[in-house]
Amino acid sequence: MPELPEVEVIRRELEPLVKGKTFATPVLLMPSTVQYPDPDLFAAALEGQTVKTLGRRGKYLLLILDQGILVMHLRMTGNIIFSSIDDLPRADRFLRVELPFTDGSMLQYSDMRRFGRLWLVKDLNELESLVLKNVGPDIYTEIDLKQFKKLLEKRGKRNLKALLLDQSCSAGMGNIYTDECLHLCHLHPEQQAATLTVEETEQLYNTIQQVLEMGIEHGGTSFRDYRNARGAIGDFQNKLNVYGRKGERCSCGELVAKTVVAGRGTYYCPCCQVKKESTVKKKSKKKGDNL
Ligand SMILES: [Zn+2]
Repeated sequence: MPELPEVEVIRRELEPLVKGKTFATPVLLMPSTVQYPDPDLFAAALEGQTVKTLGRRGKYLLLILDQGILVMHLRMTGNIIFSSIDDLPRADRFLRVELPFTDGSMLQYSDMRRFGRLWLVKDLNELESLVLKNVGPDIYTEIDLKQFKKLLEKRGKRNLKALLLDQSCSAGMGNIYTDECLHLCHLHPEQQAATLTVEETEQLYNTIQQVLEMGIEHGGTSFRDYRNARGAIGDFQNKLNVYGRKGERCSCGELVAKTVVAGRGTYYCPCCQVKKESTVKKKSKKKGDNL
């Protein structure tokens, strides 16, 4: 499933390729891919619009148009591929939407599992109220250390894995990058957020930023389906320490284990990532202590 780095790689690659181009008539091979507005309205409203720039919030890709914003979420297996006028259009049986430009180039959206969605909204107000209503600030570009500390304090009872995956708190982290960051910080995925020391919180924040940065530099992580905007795969999967490595050795010598946390398959090292119990002790007044 594409996470923040994969979507950011697509954004960076796509921007110079589509900036200034004008959409021709969209071809909705699977109209239900369009979440908003009605597919016919979507097609009519998109045609003739020019791409100004590309943005992103968490795992949402935003194409800022002269009169609105085209939003894409790839979910599990979505791919958005650009083909130039010299490329042969892809023959892909999972093709759902084709978005040609007036110059003959095209964006093709394919999606085997069919969970990905497109929206076309009028402005930033509609973007916030219709699409990103339950999406928090972007963990990579919109949350600083101070805000991260607050976020952990506010939801201190939750475990780290659930908290980092919750897109309404902070947007962008998914299963792969969360497991990797917690392993690098020697934090157990089920550890309560409130048990982190100031140093651990700082280390976790900095690690998240570094790991996301590395993921982007390596073109993202490709296991099965992820492709960048030109159809190439990323290679960050070769840099992973725990994710997808059950039974392989951690650098400490212990075998990587797999469990389920927050409903998701979770990889960790039982030796490096020991669960720390809550250090917040209940104040119990013992009668008779002072007698
Ligand atoms: Zn280890």
